[in-house]
Amino acid sequence: MPPTAHSSTGPGSSTGPDSLAADSLHIACPHCDTLNRVPPARLGGGKCGRCGNALFEGKPVALDARRFAAHAEKSDLPLLIDFWAEWCGPCRMMAPVFAQAAAQLEPRVRLAKIDTEASPDLAGRFGIRSIPSLVLVHHGREIARTAGAMPLPSLVAWVRQQIPSPPRGEG
Ligand SMILES: [Zn+2]
Repeated sequence: MPPTAHSSTGPGSSTGPDSLAADSLHIACPHCDTLNRVPPARLGGGKCGRCGNALFEGKPVALDARRFAAHAEKSDLPLLIDFWAEWCGPCRMMAPVFAQAAAQLEPRVRLAKIDTEASPDLAGRFGIRSIPSLVLVHHGREIARTAGAMPLPSLVAWVRQQIPSPPRGEG
């Protein structure tokens, strides 16, 4: 279990949900994977309570099996994963587009890259049969996927179609 950084009150061991906790989102740090609580109004800013790096930098995070759960399962942000490989020409063409998409889509969505050569287990878990493949997950569940490279406007529009309204109050 990775530690959870609490930026607010003291060493309480509160286990039940409270209104403040319910409002805040758990955001995995792109550097150390610590889950930080971020109020929705401050989404997009803030620094990690553990390592001090910015929680949003507008660029994809390189994930492997060790880092996967924090971002794909425990974070409250949808995660768009680019499955790629070094030998894949379309993947290399896709890389700068994906990086620009991260700048446009954060903080609504976190973007991640998974090297299918380095993490064949993750590629197998998602049944990746061709690359590049883009898979959108939220709380560990797949929401949508698409295969093949696409231009930036199409990619951004596709992601925005898949995710619900901004993470504010329910209802
Ligand atoms: Zn951190």
